[in-house]
Amino acid sequence: MRVKITLACTECKQRNYDTTKNKKNTPDRLEVRKYCKFCKAETVHRETR
Ligand SMILES: [Zn+2]
Repeated sequence: MRVKITLACTECKQRNYDTTKNKKNTPDRLEVRKYCKFCKAETVHRETR
């Protein structure tokens, strides 16, 4: 059930994180607040394909 995803900053569109998610727990597009080194701030990162 675990799938590889990439998290991209919604502000600058940079792909900052690679991670995995549980498809059963998170069927929708994953969104997490993380630090973006390009924005130099904590921003919302969204799952990309
Ligand atoms: Zn950013």
